[in-house]
Amino acid sequence: MAMLEIKKYGDSVLRKKSDFVRKISKDIKNLSEDMFETMYSLRGLGLAAPQVGFFLRVCTVDVDPDKKSPLVMVNPKIISGSDKVLEQEGCLSLPNIFAKVKRFSNTVTEYMDLEGKCKTIEAEGLLARAIQHEIDHLDAKIFIDYLPAWKRKNIEKEIKRRRKKGDW
Ligand code: ZN
Repeated sequence: MAMLEIKKYGDSVLRKKSDFVRKISKDIKNLSEDMFETMYSLRGLGLAAPQVGFFLRVCTVDVDPDKKSPLVMVNPKIISGSDKVLEQEGCLSLPNIFAKVKRFSNTVTEYMDLEGKCKTIEAEGLLARAIQHEIDHLDAKIFIDYLPAWKRKNIEKEIKRRRKKGDW
């Protein structure tokens, strides 16, 4: 396993849509292991392949504080969602930036597991939020895209300040 470099907000890779995975290869398995290692070591709840520079529809999620519920989703797709709620959210590609975003609190998601089997997962709360956040990355969307323009502008100013200090 290896630590992967997280691409930060401002990097154009975060604005490229990821491709569907046709076949679960050894490379996909290795990638997901590296993604878990990277995500856990940075205390993230989820990570999407484009955040580490791979344009593949693969994401890892684990919202369990004991890190005992790892979930790898290949080609995930939300098939239904209900009850929108506004909750605080963050992202490994935007360290120490948090904002409230409205998302479904209940979701049903279809995905392929690492055995190539089609699975369905019903999720609620934090897990549902993490899944929606990671699928957004596969579609080149970032959580601050949902914010009103003035809030986004403030965040971008803050990022610019940090970039100047070499802290981004
Ligand atoms: Zn993110």
